[in-house]
Amino acid sequence: MMTPRELLEACPPGGGPYACPCCRLLTLEARCQWEICTECGWEDDGQDDLNADEVWGGPNGSQSLTDARTNYAQYAAAVRSADQDSLVNGGEGAWWAPGSRRMREMGDST
Ligand SMILES: [Zn+2]
Repeated sequence: MMTPRELLEACPPGGGPYACPCCRLLTLEARCQWEICTECGWEDDGQDDLNADEVWGGPNGSQSLTDARTNYAQYAAAVRSADQDSLVNGGEGAWWAPGSRRMREMGDST
């Protein structure tokens, strides 16, 4: 398991794509650069297995990486196969899908 600094060194910009720490799809051009994953919406703030249970706040709100992984796993198990917006099905990424956009707006209280 790597610290954010080690991740940044191991995954420099231009060497990707790199796997999102949340949904594990290859959506990131670099690591630890606050990129938002187009598939699951996780913002890569450098959190990874080493500290997955911690809540860092910021754009990921009150979710730990573990929470976000669980949410994505539930989505993957329940509806992803039928969701044309998912990258898995050749779409733009579930994060941009109308359904998750609505949920995001409802959940955005800040
Ligand atoms: Zn992701």
